Amino acid sequence: MNDPRQAFRPEADPQRIRAAFDAQLPTALRWRVSTAAERIARVKRLRDAMLAQREAFYAAFAQDYRKPPAEVEASEFLPVMDEIRHVLGNLKRWMRPRGVWPTAAMLGTRGAVQCQPRGRVLIIAPWNYPLGLCFGPLVSALAAGNTAIVKPSEMTPAVSALMARIVAEVFPENEVALFEGGQPTSQALLDLPFDHIFFTGSPAVGKIVMAAAARHLTSVTLELGGKSPTIVDASANLQQAAETLMWGKFINNGQTCVAPDHVYVHASVKAAFVDACRSVLQARYGAGAAAQKASPDLARVVNHRHAERVAGLLSDALARGANVLAGGEVDRNQCYVAPTLLDRIPAGAAILSEEIFGPLLPVIEYGELDDVIAEINTQPKPLALYVFSTNRRAVAKVLARTSSGGACVNHCVAQFAHGNLPFGGVNNSGIGSAHGEHGFKAFSHERAVLRATMLMTIKLFFPPYTKSRTRL
Ligand code: NAD
Repeated sequence: MNDPRQAFRPEADPQRIRAAFDAQLPTALRWRVSTAAERIARVKRLRDAMLAQREAFYAAFAQDYRKPPAEVEASEFLPVMDEIRHVLGNLKRWMRPRGVWPTAAMLGTRGAVQCQPRGRVLIIAPWNYPLGLCFGPLVSALAAGNTAIVKPSEMTPAVSALMARIVAEVFPENEVALFEGGQPTSQALLDLPFDHIFFTGSPAVGKIVMAAAARHLTSVTLELGGKSPTIVDASANLQQAAETLMWGKFINNGQTCVAPDHVYVHASVKAAFVDACRSVLQARYGAGAAAQKASPDLARVVNHRHAERVAGLLSDALARGANVLAGGEVDRNQCYVAPTLLDRIPAGAAILSEEIFGPLLPVIEYGELDDVIAEINTQPKPLALYVFSTNRRAVAKVLARTSSGGACVNHCVAQFAHGNLPFGGVNNSGIGSAHGEHGFKAFSHERAVLRATMLMTIKLFFPPYTKSRTRL
């Protein structure tokens, strides 16, 4: 695990950043006319270099936060490889101009929407899926014909260093450059007039990024976080809900933007649901605190600062009288927090208002679905919302009366993996979307092109204006 008390790798030199940015301008202008085959060749070079370093990535992830190789495969390699496959199969179609029908006033014209590369784009990534959230957007940026500068998180230095090596091996800096560093490097990048910024991270930093982008009127995609609620109603298949939620919550040790943050469970099934969750945790990570701590299948909290933060949320809840249903053990030195279920958390506890982003799951009993919906609607709009129910009317009601970036019915987290669905938040959880064609469009400018013909009705509006022509 990384210790933030140790010095980070040095910040990138602002002059080097500026030089790479300037060098990318002629490339970006040249790439405006790049073909699908040229873009695909770039994406394939990235893919091949990434695959060649598979084992090195396992080691880097183990060093950064003991992430199990199976989770590196499922949650880092698979999403990027899937994104790449999607690009290879569809890019030609996405790049084709899309003709539109003329409206009445535009009879006699031909209109089309033509996606153009935005130009030079900046990708700033978080630490929690350091590979997938750097290279995933980079694939979309390259597919859309852009040059890119990438800034991974300083919190996962081993993975970032490996990505830096790969990018330097595959691309000259006038095509793609990667700069390691923290806030100062980010700030130096944000001073530059990029054509688009794709930021993934917290809502607090998202606001800083958007304010910086406003100085240049740079467009932004903001992939942010929040507290994603889950509802398990009385009709739910409890075994299925427990199996799915214990995966979605504890993969990557709870450090997932779309992890179920807290669960509302109907009072009539709460005891059975909690029993099912306990059994799933025991079967997956071992029976008892020592076995779970020794499990090779549990990643660690990313560093001591975040371990302190997660442990602080737990101790604050316990001090206010919350009850531990499972787990509860903490070893700050090893950045270990056990998979933990809590209930009876009093109002005012920080765990109920802050994004948890760690292996703690509040279980909140409810009686009326309407009350849960009302409570969700008092909170900022979340990135995801999950509902486990076999009652179609209840599901329809929850979906119709709440808002969230995405939603899953009888599953969780999996919406991230569907390449044909837009992935993104709404307001506090984000602006814009990623993945597949949606990612391609995020990195493209949809240019409207109107071609006139001799028959164009607009000629009717040329002067001299006669009375008969001023009213329609
Ligand atoms: P963060 O916002 O602290 O950092 C994200 C990036 O911004 C990092 O590269 C960091 O170096 C940089 N940064 C930090 N402070 C900055 C500043 N003041 N100015 C400029 N740049 C700055 O986020 P994090 O802790 O790395 O990641 C966790 C957050 O990201 C959570 O809120 C999580 O929900 C969210 N997230 C969202 C998604 C998504 O797809 N929507 C995915 C993963 C994580």
